[in-house]
Amino acid sequence: MHYTYKYHLDPTASHREQLDFYRDTCRQLYNHALREFNKIPESAGTLTQRVRQVRDQLPDLKDWWDDLTDLYSTVTQAAVMRIERSVKALSGLKQQGYKMGSLNWKAPQDFRSFSYVQKGFEFDRKDGHTVLSLKKLADIPVVKHREIPDTETVKEVTLKKEATGEWFACVTVDSKETPEKPGNPERCIGIDVGILKYAHDTDGRTIGSLGLSDDRERLQREQRKLSRKEHGSHNWEQQRQKVAECHQKMKRKRRDFLHKLSNYYASQYDLVAVEDLHIKSMLESPGNSRNTASAAWDTFTTLLAYKCKREGTHFVEVDPAGTTKECASCGVATDKPLWVREHSCPACGFEMDRDANAALNILSRGFEQRGVVHSESPPVETALPLFTSSESSDVVDGKRVVESGSPSLTESRVSGWVGWGSSLVDPRADRLPHISHPCHDGLEPHLPQTRLVAAFQVEELSDGPRRGRFATDEFAT
Ligand SMILES: [Zn+2]
Repeated sequence: MHYTYKYHLDPTASHREQLDFYRDTCRQLYNHALREFNKIPESAGTLTQRVRQVRDQLPDLKDWWDDLTDLYSTVTQAAVMRIERSVKALSGLKQQGYKMGSLNWKAPQDFRSFSYVQKGFEFDRKDGHTVLSLKKLADIPVVKHREIPDTETVKEVTLKKEATGEWFACVTVDSKETPEKPGNPERCIGIDVGILKYAHDTDGRTIGSLGLSDDRERLQREQRKLSRKEHGSHNWEQQRQKVAECHQKMKRKRRDFLHKLSNYYASQYDLVAVEDLHIKSMLESPGNSRNTASAAWDTFTTLLAYKCKREGTHFVEVDPAGTTKECASCGVATDKPLWVREHSCPACGFEMDRDANAALNILSRGFEQRGVVHSESPPVETALPLFTSSESSDVVDGKRVVESGSPSLTESRVSGWVGWGSSLVDPRADRLPHISHPCHDGLEPHLPQTRLVAAFQVEELSDGPRRGRFATDEFAT
């Protein structure tokens, strides 16, 4: 399977100039190739054949286009082949029902990256620094916060400039070793994602949404300042940079949270069941809020899906229709409006938090879909004692979902952290102390490669009694 590591680059001023030259030449080439591609009738062959037809013109182009000869060969080829990817992405969106136009000419600010495919790149040491050595370009210092395991082959390196002006190297690897999924999954979990709380699971955890109101306020402040500057002036450009940094910061916080959460579920369980969120967002969120909700859920399931594949965990997407209405105990459906937070079954008297009930339904649908007969006691009973109402104080604040082993978790603070819920320190989880893998794609360049102990822990909010059942000493190995 393929996945990507992202490394922060630390280019000098002259490196930046070269990178920008590459980026802009690729952009011009892409625009030229797109025009040539549009001239070829669809009847001339498959999409790949038609794009390759354009790519094969490259040697002739180099005869009169001098800048192209300064670029490494696979970079120019990749710039042309990008048309194929874009067309595919476009038709994918069309199939999902979006209204899409055709591919456009790219302006400088829209074209942010270029790629080395298969060859022409290598990580190296130079004057005591790690550099990314790119053929016909430069040796650019890189913050290599995480090693790429030997079992993985690097397929492609994409150099990308963010709107903030920072450069990143996205290294796509192909891992041949994908672990087998357990034939009889033991540790299984159903997750219900929502709007009020981020997630609810069948092991009794509630994960709060990531509060970003401070960041949002700052963004609005900076945007107001931007609107008062003269468009295109030096001050405007400086302010635009600040706005971009605000956006970037929020995006990183969001993704960091989702990476840690999805990594926790994928690495600690044998089977993870979630709702098919494309359908869920259609059902639950009217109008505009749908976009926001579905975008956030989409990222979560995308991350969860590939991490499950990487960890050898079953990943099941179930039909979301009626998961909140159905009774997890007897299966009778009861209508309840969104503001009713308790599930109380008129048929069997079963009472539970609304989202917890939904999570249980998701898990049992997951079992059905996978054809798993769960030998243990029914999930209803195992989960019941942990659930309280949705106003419970045992809600994990989204901001406090941390990755253990991260630099913020120093020895002196360990005693102030608690594990929350029983399964965080599951005695059966014998693989727990041995987990050592890239926990996510390295969006935090400052994080060193860490040994994950328990996947996430919750910081104690006050000096009051510990909420969790276990002190962290048990998993601070
Ligand atoms: Zn019932």
